[in-house]
Amino acid sequence: MTPEIKRHSVTSLKYSIDEALCQEILLAEEPQEILFCLFKRFKERAAIVTSGQLSGMLLIHLAAENRLPFRVCTLDTLRLFPETYAFLEQVESRYGIQIEQIQPDRQEVQQMVTQHGEYLFFDSKSKQEHCCNIRKVRPMQRLLKTLDVWITGLRRDQSDARQQLPKAEIISSASHPILKVSPLIQWTTEKVWQFARENDIPVNPLLKADAHGHYYESLGCITCTTPIRPGEPKRAGRWRWQNATPTEENTKECGLHFSI
Ligand code: SF4
Repeated sequence: MTPEIKRHSVTSLKYSIDEALCQEILLAEEPQEILFCLFKRFKERAAIVTSGQLSGMLLIHLAAENRLPFRVCTLDTLRLFPETYAFLEQVESRYGIQIEQIQPDRQEVQQMVTQHGEYLFFDSKSKQEHCCNIRKVRPMQRLLKTLDVWITGLRRDQSDARQQLPKAEIISSASHPILKVSPLIQWTTEKVWQFARENDIPVNPLLKADAHGHYYESLGCITCTTPIRPGEPKRAGRWRWQNATPTEENTKECGLHFSI
């Protein structure tokens, strides 16, 4: 059975992440109940972190509707699609928020490019992971130093690797424990799209299917992300050149949700 809350270090925490809070999250039936409970306790020490995926937009929408002025953050790898940058501006304007764009350290990027080349990720899996580490994971670790609660739009139906993710878990960042919460963990793709339609929630145009049914399932870097065809596995568009080599499903993750 999929754990709803990983309790491994709950009792050792000191940032008001206690058993009562875990119970409140576990028992909450609606995502807005979770958002309310987190904002009430953590304010600017909690943030919705999104790549611009639809479930992240739902969380921003629910926060706005319930007057919960959460910090909203995105990882700007400096290689996002132009559509994504334009979309983030649209979201800011729609909800009257400023999205914190967390960027990689320029010196680290320059050093990596000098050492391995601009397109190192084509060379090997380990170099792709190195690039993701510099452009995504390390910036995320820096962001986490400012947070006690990381709110994600993760859902179990997004991939096989995500089917076991809990609704909430305590993760160990470099500086202190973080409560990572995914209020929409049990929502299906259909439910998310239906809610978005009914509430006129902005949708990144990359997520919409073209005339041939092709669409982007991931909103990553422009160099590494391609649309998928109808019937293709959801992760097929990520690092498509790796599809020729049999891989574990969870190797199609950038490390953000499985290594921090
Ligand atoms: S998705 Fe590609 S360009 Fe973006 S950080 Fe990962 S390897 Fe680098």
